[in-house]
Amino acid sequence: MAVDEFELIRHYFSDLGNDKSGSVRLSVGDDCAIIAPPAGYNLVVSIDTMVEGTHFPKGTPGDKVASRLLGAALSDLAAMAAVPACFTLALTLPETDTVWLKAFSARLSELASQYGVRLVGGDTTRGPLTLSIQVHGWTKPGKALLRSGAQPGDRIFVTGTLGDSRGGLETVLKHITGEQVPYLQKRFFNPEPRLDTALLVSDFATSAIDISDGLLADLNHILMASKVGAMLHPTELPVSQSLYRWVGEKQAREWALGGGEDFELCFTVPLLAEPKLAWALREHDVAVTCIGQITEAPGIVLAEEGKVWSVEPQGYNHFSEKGVNR
Ligand code: ADP
Ligand code: MG
Repeated sequence: MAVDEFELIRHYFSDLGNDKSGSVRLSVGDDCAIIAPPAGYNLVVSIDTMVEGTHFPKGTPGDKVASRLLGAALSDLAAMAAVPACFTLALTLPETDTVWLKAFSARLSELASQYGVRLVGGDTTRGPLTLSIQVHGWTKPGKALLRSGAQPGDRIFVTGTLGDSRGGLETVLKHITGEQVPYLQKRFFNPEPRLDTALLVSDFATSAIDISDGLLADLNHILMASKVGAMLHPTELPVSQSLYRWVGEKQAREWALGGGEDFELCFTVPLLAEPKLAWALREHDVAVTCIGQITEAPGIVLAEEGKVWSVEPQGYNHFSEKGVNR
C-alpha cells in the first residue's frame, strides 16, 4: 500500500509518546511545535542520526531501528542528568514500506511512553534510509553533568556491563546463532538510556559521558575536557555472563574497553562522596561498578597485578583515515 507524506505522518507519527513533564503546548500538525519549559529550568538539546548500512545493517526491522535510535538519543540526555521532555524526528525513507513503518512507529511509541517523552514534530523526505532524532530535556541551571569536572583522586564508575553491544553487532553481521545471541543482540538493538541512574548521582558526580564510541574513547573525552588522566583496572570491568561465555575473557575485555554503542554511563565521583553514592543507589536496579580513578598525569594507563601500561584511546571515528579504527 502506498501512502502519501501527509497520510504517513498522520497515521504513524501524529500521536506518539507522552509528555511526562507537561510542557508540550502544541504538537505535530502545525509549522512548529510549542513547548513551555518549566519555570527555572534550562533547555538541553541533542541530535543523533542513524544511516542504514553505517549504524545498523541493511534490512533491519523497524522496531529494532526505533529502539536503537531513541535509546541512543535519550542516552545523551542521561549523560547530562537531564529530564527528557520531547523529541523531533527527521525521516528519510527510500519508499513507504508500511510493514516497516508500522513496526517502527509502534516500537517508538511504546518506548517514548515508557520514557515520558512526546514526539512533537519532524520532517519526512525520500532518499536513502536515514533517521535523526533531536531530544529536548530540562536541567536546573548549574546542575547538568558536564565532561569537564573530573578531579584527580575521583573514582571512575560505569553502569551496567560493557562490550555486549559490540558482541551483539558481531552476531548480526556474521549471522551467528546460539544461546547467548538473543541477549547480546538485544543489547545492540535496544540500548537502555541510564536516565534514572544519572539523576540519582547528579548531586555529587563531578563529570559524566555516555559510552557511544567505546569506554577508552569516551573516557578520554572526560580526561581532555577536565585536563586530567586515568588509571583503569581491566579486571574490574563489568562484563556480562553472556559475553564472557561466548567469546571468553580476553575478547570480552577488549570489547569492554574499545567496543562502542553500549550507551552505558561513565561518571566520576570524589572519594569522599562514595558513601553518598552507595546511599543514592541502595534501591537502584542498575549495577554501578568502580573501574579506576582519575590521575593528575595525563593519558590512560591500565593496571593489573602490579603491572602498569599505557593505552591509546581508540574508538569509532567516521572521518579517521581508516573510517573504523577499532
Ligand atoms: P513544513 O512543510 O512546514 O515543514 P511538513 O509538511 O514537513 O511541514 O510537516 C507537517 C507537520 O508534520 C509538522 O508539524 C511537522 O513537524 C510534522 N512532521 C513531519 N514529519 C514528521 C515525522 N516524521 N514525525 C513527526 N512529525 C512530523
Ligand atoms: Mg517539513
